[in-house]
Amino acid sequence: ATLIIGVTGGIASGKSTVTRAFARRGIPWVDADDTAREIVEPGEPALAEITARYGQRILHADGRLDRRALREIVFAAPEERRWLESATHPRIRERLLERLAAFRRSEAPYALLVSPLLFESGQASLVDRCLVIDVPEAVQIARTARRDDVDEAQARAIVAAQMPRRERLQRADDVIDNAGDEAGLAAQVETLDRRYRALAGLPAPR
Ligand code: ATP
Repeated sequence: ATLIIGVTGGIASGKSTVTRAFARRGIPWVDADDTAREIVEPGEPALAEITARYGQRILHADGRLDRRALREIVFAAPEERRWLESATHPRIRERLLERLAAFRRSEAPYALLVSPLLFESGQASLVDRCLVIDVPEAVQIARTARRDDVDEAQARAIVAAQMPRRERLQRADDVIDNAGDEAGLAAQVETLDRRYRALAGLPAPR
């Protein structure tokens, strides 16, 4: 049976980098953020519901969702945020379940559900094990500032608003320490790949 591994970590912890390393080993994956975008594409029922509530002002001229306009509406309005979550979260979950079911039917030894909010969203209940990408907050802040061209104070504020590092680690079955270089990361991915293949009952490829 195909194991499903949930992959999570805070901003700039290295989720995408780790996912690419597993993908190079032939491991399939689904990204919860991509799925969240898919379910509000034109033609999707969630977008129709959102448009029925807020009107054309949350659409771009080409009919795609204007995320910034929507964010501005829900930002200061907890009720609207809750409504939006009720329109989107069940659909994201359903779409993820479909993808994970297809993985489980596949020949892959294991597959990844990559989700920044694996624990906060309840998506951890969809997976067999949770892999946390861990870095000290100072590293997270430095990598965020460098990548996203924000200053250190902004990066620090984003990190402070997320689940605390300790709490994430408490929920981890497996941990990748991504404070080091990319070679160190690759070595940890190789070790985990062997462990996951063994757990799935398949020998590691030579
Ligand atoms: P987010 O969820 O914020 O999009 P992420 O968790 O997917 O981020 P990545 O995009 O993989 O994180 O990495 C964040 C940044 O840190 C990228 O610019 C990446 O190149 C860099 N990075 C990741 N791992 C390392 C490493 N071991 N050494 C140096 N830089 C790294």
